Amino acid sequence: MSVSNYSALRIVVVGAGAAGLSCAWQLARAGHAVTLVDRGELGRGALWASGGMLAAGFEASVELDLHHDLARAFSDLLQASLDHWGDWIHALQGYSAGPLGYNQDGAVTPLNGEAELARADRVLAQAQALGITVEQIDGAALRSLEPGLASADGALVFPGDGQLDNRALAQALTSAAFAAGCRMEMRSGVKALRRRGGAVTGVELHDGRALEADRVVLATGAQGLAELPDPVTARPVKGQMLGFEVEPGQGPRHVVRGFSIYLCSKPGHRVIAGATVEPDVYDTETTEDAQQRLLALARRTLPGLGDMAPVEHWSGLRPASKDLMPLLGELEPGLIMAGGGYRNGVLLAPVIAAACLAAVTDRPLPDTAQPFTPHRAGLRARRDH
Ligand SMILES: Cc1cc2nc3c(=O)[nH]c(=O)nc-3n(C[C@H](O)[C@H](O)[C@H](O)COP(=O)(O)OP(=O)(O)OC[C@H]3O[C@@H](n4cnc5c(N)ncnc54)[C@H](O)[C@@H]3O)c2cc1C
Repeated sequence: MSVSNYSALRIVVVGAGAAGLSCAWQLARAGHAVTLVDRGELGRGALWASGGMLAAGFEASVELDLHHDLARAFSDLLQASLDHWGDWIHALQGYSAGPLGYNQDGAVTPLNGEAELARADRVLAQAQALGITVEQIDGAALRSLEPGLASADGALVFPGDGQLDNRALAQALTSAAFAAGCRMEMRSGVKALRRRGGAVTGVELHDGRALEADRVVLATGAQGLAELPDPVTARPVKGQMLGFEVEPGQGPRHVVRGFSIYLCSKPGHRVIAGATVEPDVYDTETTEDAQQRLLALARRTLPGLGDMAPVEHWSGLRPASKDLMPLLGELEPGLIMAGGGYRNGVLLAPVIAAACLAAVTDRPLPDTAQPFTPHRAGLRARRDH
């Protein structure tokens, strides 16, 4: 079948998070008849809870295990997605009720003491191995870059990293998908997939209705469908965060991405601080203990917070695949995966959507996405972080 024969597929996207909203928007824009269903509110999963950082440089240089089979491919994927954000923001601006809080002004990692300076050497070596630009600056340079931060021995600067306001993004993506013709159903949980003739042909909802489809896109985040085969089930890694309301100019100018806490200024004079890393925790309650720890770290990093109390605390579930890498493309005929965003699902939204757009019409995935097919050989029960 030629690609033009696919011009108006009926597609059900399950899950309206960073992945699902992005896929639905791009699929509807491409002329498909898209229905987006979510068991709760649209955009209120991990997308809403996240830090909104576009931290391709930091994540690849600091958080990535260089021995992972997909390390290099993942670093390339992060960078490829980062490169899309300028155009995405341009396209989404008209659908946003407020500022999207986007910049790529860089991220700074303060360094204190021998252990962190030694760690910085390892980070620089990893960044170099992956072709990522990072600079090390001294304490005086950090003071002029970020006068509000506690003094430090120095800092790493990731000049290409950035951020956006993830909650504003959720609203803008919803409006843009709707404007492109996407139908949306909230509080419509998918119970099971429907199959006929060896292909997925739709979904069954908890309320008893069935939705027929030529393709189903699974973007259910940390809670997949019970019937998925074990290698492609996601598990949650809970993260708790705090939010402050500060005076104009009191928040950091850049993303501050410390080794044990991050702080970001968001529109509306909000500063957010995060995040805990709690594997296999399924609830989204916040705990006093975690909040107190985050608060102490936030005050130590940004002394201007003084004894200011947070105005908000929340948590969300990062969707982690077995090998902690994204799951992109066809799982079985008619069923496309768009998941496994884990710590970077917001940053990765453009490449997740691009892979989905290719997969629904049986085209090859973009080169950078190809290593992340759900059929990859190394998708085993890795349990390391
Ligand atoms: C505290 C925290 C901080 C983070 N910070 C960052 C960051 O700074 N930068 C970054 O890039 N990433 C960050 N992340 C990760 C990022 O938020 C996630 O990877 C991303 O949001 C995952 O998107 P998703 O669409 O897969 O899942 P979600 O956004 O969780 O969306 C999944 C949706 O599927 C729905 N759903 C589930 N099951 C069903 C069903 N059976 N039927 C119907 N609907 C269903 C849910 O209701 C939900 O709305 C962070 C995450 C957390 C928790």
